[in-house]
Amino acid sequence: MEVTNRVEPGTNVVIVKNLYVSIDPYQVNRMKSFSSSQSATKNAVGVNPGEGIDAHGVGKVVASGNTEFEKGDLIVGLISWGDYTVVKPGVLLRKFDPLGLPLSYQVGILGFSGLTAYAGLFDICKPKKGEKVFVSAASGSVGNLVGQYAKLFGCYVVGSAGNNEKVALLKEKLGFDDAFNYKEETDLKATLKRYFPDGIDIYFDNVGAEMLDAAVANMKAFGRVAACGVISEYTDVRKRAAPNMLDVVYKRIKIEGFLVVDYMNVYQDFLRTTCDHLRNGEIQALEDISNGVESIPSAFAGLFCGDNIGKKIVQIAQE
Ligand code: NDP
Repeated sequence: MEVTNRVEPGTNVVIVKNLYVSIDPYQVNRMKSFSSSQSATKNAVGVNPGEGIDAHGVGKVVASGNTEFEKGDLIVGLISWGDYTVVKPGVLLRKFDPLGLPLSYQVGILGFSGLTAYAGLFDICKPKKGEKVFVSAASGSVGNLVGQYAKLFGCYVVGSAGNNEKVALLKEKLGFDDAFNYKEETDLKATLKRYFPDGIDIYFDNVGAEMLDAAVANMKAFGRVAACGVISEYTDVRKRAAPNMLDVVYKRIKIEGFLVVDYMNVYQDFLRTTCDHLRNGEIQALEDISNGVESIPSAFAGLFCGDNIGKKIVQIAQE
């Protein structure tokens, strides 16, 4: 692709060569016909057929009409699922220091996935040492970090994932106390009773539907549920969680939804803590990187089949 390296000064337009783009489940909700009615939620503005798709990513400035950016600057922000992005004024973009860590970390562990796990666990669930934590989609981008943060904090952590390779990874490499393959279980309520005979203090919900019902049935009194996402409901309109609300009332369970964009105030804390953990070898960055812009569609579709292990990223180009 031929790209001009000149932009008229004062236009504030920045042209970015895309290096890494984030592949996220929520994009599917933007593609649904009802998504424009959700635009008030800020992160689900609709995408219509034929329009480009913007996503969190890392790139390098190749031309700038904005005095804040120079050719050669590394940036992180909203770029497109494509080779280059013409970033118009007002679009979220910032320079960053890679801090000696791989650039791809800005899209996953040091980006929104990491912040989602950190804010959801610590701000929403408010764990106490020794508490029992259950996390679903635990080998995914957010889930694996929830488990790793919770273990470092001193909790007992069990995760669910969709195949035995993922279960082994959680237990043997990421330090989870236990894990199970939910696809091999026929009665999730009984399964969770087996893993948490005394009940769950915290459930970090990434999937919704029957897993949320089963978790609520196994919560202890004053348990907390972080409603992070409901991926099992994104592509199946028949699936809806129906927890026993009398259980919620009598057990005084707190179920709280949240959006990562509301937690930018804890970003610097999160960044410092996570970089320290990474440098001390206390936390692992789990990445699943495909190469080339042409791999974006299969990378995206794969999220809904459980193809990814860890943060799904597409590397578009070398720096
Ligand atoms: P993941 O990296 O976890 O990828 C998705 C994973 O979900 C798959 O690998 C698959 O793993 C699992 N999955 C897919 N379909 C189903 C299904 N039908 N039932 C159960 N599990 C399924 O994605 P993220 O970590 O990026 O996102 C996890 C959740 O967090 C999503 O719901 C997402 O929308 C939400 N989210 C919310 C944010 C917020 O601000 N509230 C911010 C970021 C993400 P498996 O093999 O285990 O089935």
